[in-house]
Amino acid sequence: MMQKLLILWDIDGTILQSGRAGMKALQAALQDVFGVSGSFEGIEFAGRTDPWIIRQIFSRFGIENTKENAERYIDGYVSALPGVLGQSGTRILPGVSEILGRAAAHPGVVQGLLTGNLRRGAQAKLGFHGLWEYFPIGAFADDSESRNELGPHVLRRARGHWGIEFTGDRTWVVGDTPHDIACARAFGARAMAVATGGSKAAELAAFNPDAVLESLGDTEAFWRAVGA
Ligand SMILES: [Mg+2]
Repeated sequence: MMQKLLILWDIDGTILQSGRAGMKALQAALQDVFGVSGSFEGIEFAGRTDPWIIRQIFSRFGIENTKENAERYIDGYVSALPGVLGQSGTRILPGVSEILGRAAAHPGVVQGLLTGNLRRGAQAKLGFHGLWEYFPIGAFADDSESRNELGPHVLRRARGHWGIEFTGDRTWVVGDTPHDIACARAFGARAMAVATGGSKAAELAAFNPDAVLESLGDTEAFWRAVGA
């Protein structure tokens, strides 16, 4: 029996460039829900989970970090996202559509999401580009505020969906930041770093991923790296 590979995708900076839609939607929601506006400068977005980012924003603007405030803010964010995406210039990164399509048709490959986005945010961003259907499973920021805790959630869902116990050496995490590499290591998965987000290839290489690519535009390099 052929052993399948599980490919797990980060979204922002890896599958797509969001045109800072997430940040703009968080800014719009801050105004709509709390009547507050101001700069997010200095708050780290890349590689972080949405709940982590929201906690930094609450702290910056003196909003009490209660479950109720977080839920109201998230509702506002998800509502603002489609409109913001329409004006953001978001685009799918080179090579990604081809790789997703080939993976979907490949008998030896299955794929899912491993993202710091909340599930509803991920669906809005990917759905905007018609890519949501590629991912029958995923782990999201709803599962944990800490990206490094997401691995077991996605493996559990993969087992439930495909009936396969994926080992670390059959699992790849594809992402654009050192946080994605750390997240892969945290559950023994392989890490593929792509320099299409905030980090340069040399910066990513310093964190010792199993593969580093300048972009996914060289789709053959991607398939060579994962060995499928
Ligand atoms: Mg990313």
